[in-house]
Amino acid sequence: MNDKRIDGKAVAAELRKEIAAKVEARRAAGLPAPGLAVVLVGEDPASKVYVGSKVKACEEVGFLSQNFRLEASTSQEELLALIDKLNADPQIHGILVQLPLPKQIDVQAVIERIDPKKDVDGFHPYNLGRLAGKAPTLRPCTPYGCMRLLKAYGIDPMGKKAVVVGASNIVGRPVALELLMERATVTICHSKTRDLPGELAQADIVIAAVGIPQFIKGEWLKPGAVVIDVGINRLENGKLVGDVDFDSAYEKASAITPVPGGVGPMTIACLLQNTLEACEAIEG
Ligand code: NAD
Repeated sequence: MNDKRIDGKAVAAELRKEIAAKVEARRAAGLPAPGLAVVLVGEDPASKVYVGSKVKACEEVGFLSQNFRLEASTSQEELLALIDKLNADPQIHGILVQLPLPKQIDVQAVIERIDPKKDVDGFHPYNLGRLAGKAPTLRPCTPYGCMRLLKAYGIDPMGKKAVVVGASNIVGRPVALELLMERATVTICHSKTRDLPGELAQADIVIAAVGIPQFIKGEWLKPGAVVIDVGINRLENGKLVGDVDFDSAYEKASAITPVPGGVGPMTIACLLQNTLEACEAIEG
């Protein structure tokens, strides 16, 4: 029975197809293709995999992609100088600096150096502020992907009680802003929340972004809840699992994203969408 699964792979494939068609139309009209610069500092194995998928996805939809691989010992000044160069490069419409960064580099300084018009990760305070003010410009990709999944399945957050588990800058906080913009009643839980099962028992929509494998149990959920599992965790046996205990949650939920094949593919598709939007805004 696959009927409760939210198929992120299929929704992402559809979005990528639409993006590829728009890039093709731009080319046919003699307009430049969107250009994305992907910057990786150091040798983090998971980051290498993510960067590889992003570059491949860019090429598949016809974007220009530039890949920068810097030594783990790169200084903050060197990285900021590269960002300045990319900010000024007319072929580049999007700049993505893969996180996490080595210790000697101040992440916030890097995020704030990227031209907000090219901030396709949506982490610059300008873009986060626009989202908080209900006038989004470039939006953080994973939260944007979660919202697009809900929309694709006809799930309207308006008036519903949504509980976000996790309060990070890249997922928890911005996804809460997205849900609030859609007029859900939003609760954000985190590691100091006193009664997580009590909060979840009331949730019509659950967004899990905790980083602990299979942490959220089906018995904590309200019957019929919609569950969006952002977590990506690798178990010792090599298996990828989410932050939700899928089998027990599947019993209780009305709809649920699998891991893999749920939010992950949407994050990359929304990065492409952001790069296209950045290109359209910059080129006019
Ligand atoms: P993070 O470590 O920055 O934040 C985790 C959050 O969970 C924190 O706010 C923390 O307070 C909260 N938390 C920790 N323990 C808790 C507990 N016991 N109860 C309630 N809350 C608790 O993580 P992140 O960067 O937001 O990522 C979360 C997960 O999402 C990770 O598994 C990550 O790999 C995954 N992720 C997936 C994608 C994707 O594309 N699918 C993108 C980004 C992150």
